[in-house]
Amino acid sequence: MFRFSVLASGSSGNALYVETQEVRMLVDAGISGRDLDRRLKATAGVSLEDIDVLLLTHEHADHVKGLRQVLKRAAPRVYASEGTWARSPKGEETDGLDWTPVRAGLPVRIGDVTVYPIPVSHDAEEPLMFRMEHADGTFVVLTDLGYVSDAARDALRGCQCAVVETNHDVEMLRAGRYPWHLKRRILGDKGHLSNEDAAWAVAEVLCETADAPVDLYLAHLSEENNLPELAELTMRSVLTDARRDLLEVVRLHHTSRTEATLLRSLGGDALGIPAHGAGHPVQWKG
Ligand SMILES: [Zn+2]
Ligand SMILES: [Zn+2]
Repeated sequence: MFRFSVLASGSSGNALYVETQEVRMLVDAGISGRDLDRRLKATAGVSLEDIDVLLLTHEHADHVKGLRQVLKRAAPRVYASEGTWARSPKGEETDGLDWTPVRAGLPVRIGDVTVYPIPVSHDAEEPLMFRMEHADGTFVVLTDLGYVSDAARDALRGCQCAVVETNHDVEMLRAGRYPWHLKRRILGDKGHLSNEDAAWAVAEVLCETADAPVDLYLAHLSEENNLPELAELTMRSVLTDARRDLLEVVRLHHTSRTEATLLRSLGGDALGIPAHGAGHPVQWKG
């Protein structure tokens, strides 16, 4: 069993839940402890106290906002890079915290999951993405990156499910009201992935590898510079351009800032979103 839910996704806060026979894990804790607890209960019937592992991608506030509360309430084993952990807000009481450093290129076994940390280009201390391999399949979390490196692209190969950043529409960002320095940061090599760049990276990998269904979650959307429909449309048109029949195997899903996605099984029949369908697990709420 490998089940997951994107608890929150967007520039305002990110967290993801994974459960297997052996672990109950959070990837990032970028919303309050109260919201984490509420969404875990709603989607998976577990509470924050039941979490035994926390994996961190990097130390930006939208990924660690709820860290103190998670440490306090769940006391999980934490896996994070040295840079991430050093800069994460842990609170005053740091004795007894159970932290295992992870390093790019060195896989770590967490229960029945093998996690491959892969470096990403992002303006944080030592940011990582994760490829998780389990007996039921492979799950990839790829958010917060300025561009898709060869290593990141390789990490997508052969996965059954990927949570991929489609942060902004370039035209919306350029024309929008963000100050220029912020626009430049987002558009830069250490910023965030646009709809189009994400779509081309995914298309390139899936063109070669996808014949079995792949579930793709469009994640980390900017509230200001993107629309879920636009992210979806861009992904659909690029995938179709890349390989005419690709959308018959790739199933797109939205994520939300305000609600957890339905708990789904990797490699199970539960992933029954129809091809070309508008099978959104959650409604987008602004
Ligand atoms: Zn982020
Ligand atoms: Zn970030």
